[in-house]
Amino acid sequence: MATISQPEPMTTLTSTADVIRVEDVHKYYDLGETRVHALRGVSVNIEAGEFVAIMGASGSGKSTFMNILGCLDKPTSGRYLLEGIEVSQLSKKELAAIRNRKIGFVFQGFNLLSRTTALENVELPTLYAKISKEEGQKRSREALELVGLGERMLHFPSQLSGGQQQRVAIARALVNKPSILLADEPTGNLDSRTSVEIMDVFQQLNDRGLTVVLVTHEPDVAQFAKRSIQFRDGKIRRDESITDRPIAADVLKELPTLED
Ligand code: ADP
Ligand code: MG
Repeated sequence: MATISQPEPMTTLTSTADVIRVEDVHKYYDLGETRVHALRGVSVNIEAGEFVAIMGASGSGKSTFMNILGCLDKPTSGRYLLEGIEVSQLSKKELAAIRNRKIGFVFQGFNLLSRTTALENVELPTLYAKISKEEGQKRSREALELVGLGERMLHFPSQLSGGQQQRVAIARALVNKPSILLADEPTGNLDSRTSVEIMDVFQQLNDRGLTVVLVTHEPDVAQFAKRSIQFRDGKIRRDESITDRPIAADVLKELPTLED
């Protein structure tokens, strides 16, 4: 595992409460003759313990923004500080190390390995992080229990419903104890009841202090977050806190189940 060189924090600019600090970020994609200006001066701070829904039409820059937050890609210009570390300037190797240690990802398509059990899927990031087999298994069991899959650890993905597969993916994202959980359209492949079940998991994790940033184009899903940031044409168009947000667990009690 590469050691991350930690640059001197910018003491005048960095508040310790900000997990994420994005300053005037631009992102261009170069496609031969054409250049796509996907992010056009985005600035935002996200504090520890927030639960943010990123909204906006297709093509508005949501995934580009998430990829930068997740250290999967770098801004073309501007600064991105994750827990006070300026990641815009890090090498590929350093980015990978930060990603593995500080960030949990959840995707629309679950991205589970089909020939390995739920438990083995969740264990995988602990292997990359060079955590011992014993500790990795212990953490993986705990993570699966946390998302309500304690009874299904030895199932293969094909033996699980879509909602259960997404829970495995969430457990996998949590297993290295990240500072932030990033989810890009995590309910995009799920029916509406299952979507609320997944939002219940996110709300519970956030109640335990985890910072969650989630992309969705569905207002029904976004309403469970505490703050909503709307993108349009590569810029932040609106940023507001959500008052009167519903508790997903309560909403579930009112929704019919498949058995009804
Ligand atoms: P959203 O997630 O909101 O749908 P994206 O961030 O995926 O938006 O895309 C923003 C813009 O950048 C779009 O015009 C899209 O076509 C373009 N884009 C996204 N990813 C790439 C890429 N890897 N290469 C070239 N253009 C891209
Ligand atoms: Mg997208």
